[in-house]
Amino acid sequence: MRRFLLLLLLLPLPLSGDALLKGVRSFTYPDYTRVVLDLSDPVTFTTKELKEPGRVRFFFDIAQTRLTHELVLLKTIPVGVGYLKEIRVGQFTPRIARVVLEFPEVRTLKTFLLANPFRIVIDIYGQRSEEKEVLPSLKKPPKSEATTTIKPPADLSGEKGLSLTRQLGLRVKRVVIDPGHGGKDPGTIGKVKGLPEKEVVLDVSLRLKALLEKGSDLEVILTRQNDTFLSLEERTALANSRHADLFVSVHANAAKNRSASGLETFWLNFTSDPHAVEIAAAENSSSERSIWELQGLLKKISLTSKLIESRIFANQIHKSVLEKTRTKVPDYQDYNVRKAPFYVLIGASMPATLVEIGFLSNKANEELLEDPLFREKIAEGLYEGILSYIRSLGEK
Ligand SMILES: [Zn+2]
Repeated sequence: MRRFLLLLLLLPLPLSGDALLKGVRSFTYPDYTRVVLDLSDPVTFTTKELKEPGRVRFFFDIAQTRLTHELVLLKTIPVGVGYLKEIRVGQFTPRIARVVLEFPEVRTLKTFLLANPFRIVIDIYGQRSEEKEVLPSLKKPPKSEATTTIKPPADLSGEKGLSLTRQLGLRVKRVVIDPGHGGKDPGTIGKVKGLPEKEVVLDVSLRLKALLEKGSDLEVILTRQNDTFLSLEERTALANSRHADLFVSVHANAAKNRSASGLETFWLNFTSDPHAVEIAAAENSSSERSIWELQGLLKKISLTSKLIESRIFANQIHKSVLEKTRTKVPDYQDYNVRKAPFYVLIGASMPATLVEIGFLSNKANEELLEDPLFREKIAEGLYEGILSYIRSLGEK
């Protein structure tokens, strides 16, 4: 069997093995647009920026990829916002698909990948966000016709000095709470009583919203208010479009080991921890194998998330939720703060965290998560965590 596989690897890839560019979708807001390229398989791509008077074009050349017949015929996709003129698609060579975004002037683009199904997500910011996000001294020198080199993200694991958020003392005004799953996607299901994750996390999120609206002047936005399905990219697209300052995704955990229990909090980064990969695979609804593969690809593109702040935010949330839950359940387990490649966090342009409030695979935890009083404790902990984090920004 192994010899047969080796032989297959030596053969050149047949054309039919190429990926398909199946569709181009865009979510348009007044000063922010998200473009999603839907693909049949993982791909690699290069980008190029071409500047001319009155127009700037961004080329995405996707290797070993063909267009569907519909896209070949479509050619141009109108967008209808001033800062992004149009999107064009074409079969550049028999095995390279090209997508061109045309702008009247220079724009900031952020690109990341999502899996299952595989897609390339491109975020384009209008003037307002750009001003807020980039200090003049941090702006990159202008480039004319040049191939953009995709660099691995800088090592942000250490906290060297103050992050941009702290330097600017940016005031937090809007918080997006993201109850995981919903609609056709129930998330994980309780092993004993069949409690669905989508139901617990929505209830906790609604409780958190009520607490924040009562106890602070923050504007609170929920990605879903009821039992509806939302794709992972829509969740952060909403947060970005509303200029949210913080993003909290609420989930419930599952593990093969039924004795695993307690609180686990994540911030986005690459990891070599097999446990974190297992959780990320479950939440990304993809296989563990594809997570390992995608980490390699992810390392080649710039991350949009604010990693340092996200780590601080995740730690604060974790500490506060643990304190509150332990007022009711003194031995509620600390399952740690970890980093993992969650796709729902990748597209967020603000500090973001994903909280696994308890294990539905654990009998005792499922009982607790069914209890309205315990849910309220978790909401109180999340509330305290958000406010403590905001207070810490003011301290510098
Ligand atoms: Zn989940």
